[in-house]
Amino acid sequence: MAALNGAVENGQPDRKVPPLPRPLRSLEVKYTKIFINNEWHDSTSGKKFPTYNPSTLEKICDIEEGDKPDVDNAVEAAKAAFQRGSLWRQMDALSRGRLLHKLADLLERDRVILATLETMDTGKPFLQAYFIDLEGCIKTLRYYAGWADKIQGRTIPVDENFVCFTRHEPMGVCGAITPWNFPLLMLIWKMAPALCCGNTLVIKPAEQTPLTSLYIGSLIKEVGFPPGVVNIVPGYGPTAGAAISTHHSIDKIAFTGSTKVGKLIKEAASKSNLKRVTLELGGKNPCIVCADADLDLAVECAHQGVFFNQGQCCTAASRVFVEEQIYPEFVKRSVEYAKKRLVGDPFDARTEQGPQIDQKQFDKILELIESGKKEGAKLECGGLAIEDRGLFIKPTVFSEVTDNMRIAKEEDQLLQCALCTGSFWWL
Ligand code: ADP
Repeated sequence: MAALNGAVENGQPDRKVPPLPRPLRSLEVKYTKIFINNEWHDSTSGKKFPTYNPSTLEKICDIEEGDKPDVDNAVEAAKAAFQRGSLWRQMDALSRGRLLHKLADLLERDRVILATLETMDTGKPFLQAYFIDLEGCIKTLRYYAGWADKIQGRTIPVDENFVCFTRHEPMGVCGAITPWNFPLLMLIWKMAPALCCGNTLVIKPAEQTPLTSLYIGSLIKEVGFPPGVVNIVPGYGPTAGAAISTHHSIDKIAFTGSTKVGKLIKEAASKSNLKRVTLELGGKNPCIVCADADLDLAVECAHQGVFFNQGQCCTAASRVFVEEQIYPEFVKRSVEYAKKRLVGDPFDARTEQGPQIDQKQFDKILELIESGKKEGAKLECGGLAIEDRGLFIKPTVFSEVTDNMRIAKEEDQLLQCALCTGSFWWL
């Protein structure tokens, strides 16, 4: 039987195709508060903020709005959990790995719930949340679970009378600020390695998509991580996020998001305690298609490269450089492909593309489309919102794009910009 996480057990291929998973149509959101010391808390300020379903524009629920005092409380809990002699510091590495494996087990158990929550909050198609995001989370947890007891230092040969060795030690309290495009996956990418190495965490999920991160809080408690090891403070970037990046007792920060905010985080880290920083930022990624490529495959790859996840990927290949000889045919087939893409209800198993995450991103894309038209690019298809509820935009392809146009330079989503090029001698 095919294992849940995609492996084939006992080397026997599974001949029966299992039925597709189905989302939960009425799911009560249970976790909306701040998670500190394995307990749920109201915000210190008493404020809450709403989270919306971008497919329907309906409010899903209100979330406790964390700010600096809540981050301070979370950091105190994380520091206490990291003290020498604490349960977490005394735990042997194998047991840390075991906890990560147990967390992976619970993600497998609650996979439908988590994929449903992710779809409600982000608008991404449920089957993609289930098969791509959740799959990635489970595999990442198991990967780092295996590493926990294999982290070793070195002995280094030096002069006879000396012994020289390195020890790999946890850094301490780690901050994690996550984005809205892959909320759960980005959380696990930050959390699993930090816990594997014995650190403690203060996490701030993106304000647009806090639901799956808070659900993870409940699983952290159920698995049995000691209180204070993982703390989750939902809230806004300039308040709760900035409180993390400027905090003097946070030793390291991992951030995924825009380049603009990445710069702020690096600045805040250097002006506070020189905490270490890991940034995963945006881009305007080129895809290059040579004349001898398998054209059908190239068109499909370029299509998925830009439109996957509603175009909301830091690696979205939104510029396509195509060699002159095949340019007209490439554009023609790309347009046919884009026109066929099914945009709609992300809970429908046939849907390939859901809505954009929020009004701000939706407006930004439409504004960039207008700029492309004005600057002389040829709009081949799309270019419009889908008149319905929600933040849906038709997959858009531009041809005759030149390097100086905004659509060829600014990070956007959902626009496939085909640039024609004579030869590749400069590559
Ligand atoms: P986008 O522009 O794509 O929405 P952002 O970079 O603004 O992406 O957001 C990514 C994450 O960074 C979110 O969790 C957001 O709350 C957070 N964030 C935004 N502004 C700041 C800030 N000034 N300091 C720290 N975190 C921030």
